[in-house]
Amino acid sequence: MGRYDGRVAVVTGAAQGIGFGIATRFAEEGASVAILDLDETKAAEAAAKLPVVGDGVKHVGIACDVSNTEAASGAVEKVVSELGGIHVLVNNAGITRDNLLFKLTEDDWDLVMNVHLKGAFNMTKAAQKHFVEQKYGKILNLSSVSALGNRGQANYSAAKMGVQGLTRTLGIELGPFGINTNAIAPGFIATEMTDATAARLKMDVDEFRKLNAEANPVKRVGFPEDIAAAAAFLCSDEASYITGQTLYVDGGAKLG
Ligand code: NAP
Repeated sequence: MGRYDGRVAVVTGAAQGIGFGIATRFAEEGASVAILDLDETKAAEAAAKLPVVGDGVKHVGIACDVSNTEAASGAVEKVVSELGGIHVLVNNAGITRDNLLFKLTEDDWDLVMNVHLKGAFNMTKAAQKHFVEQKYGKILNLSSVSALGNRGQANYSAAKMGVQGLTRTLGIELGPFGINTNAIAPGFIATEMTDATAARLKMDVDEFRKLNAEANPVKRVGFPEDIAAAAAFLCSDEASYITGQTLYVDGGAKLG
């Protein structure tokens, strides 16, 4: 018996990185999974790589820009019709457009806000209709240690702290309908996103990871599996008395 037998989970931005790690873990525990991402081929290829555990399990890849309201609601309806329902939503899609404030453009501010914050709003609004009707739902939002402030990330940091406020408010509003809403704030996780940061800083990827590992209390960087383990707990029925919380999964990076 998997914790996710009979469940349908939607993970946004899941063609790679943390989202793919979470999707894989849900699938391993028995869920049918919809991978949403910008590129349809990448989403379909990622869905085809997921393990199929249990009878009637099916995975799909769907193209969806979460910052587009119609695309988000269309994707949720497609999941419901193709996979027979929706029980878990992970708002994971994300981008960075880092720059010091005086160089940060309005476009890069808007883009980051639109993907992280409006994207989570769009997807959650579309999914909550089904969650409220069935009196069951699990929402997980991806925040970041950068929510606490990070040089060169005014846009990203504001969006990621906004995600925490959204999470608390949804915990209050949706709790009476059997819906849990939580967030995970990862520290440094080895993905294409942090590899791109290394490239921007003109650093070798391994050297960048080594530097971040040395600065971390547990002396290693994180991997998508670290976030997936916490996600699988927070979206499970074992965690039904936990809502509105943000769990820092960062090796203690922000302990001070
Ligand atoms: P990633 O490897 O860059 O993957 C993000 C995925 O989201 C990509 O497949 C990307 O597609 C997709 N995406 C971007 N914009 C989208 C949109 N508008 N609609 C749908 N999908 C979209 O990033 P990651 O490192 O796995 O990060 C996943 C989440 O964790 C993000 O919210 C990130 O902010 C957060 N996080 C990451 C770290 C870390 O250290 N990696 C730390 C803290 C928080 P394209 O590749 O086509 O753009």
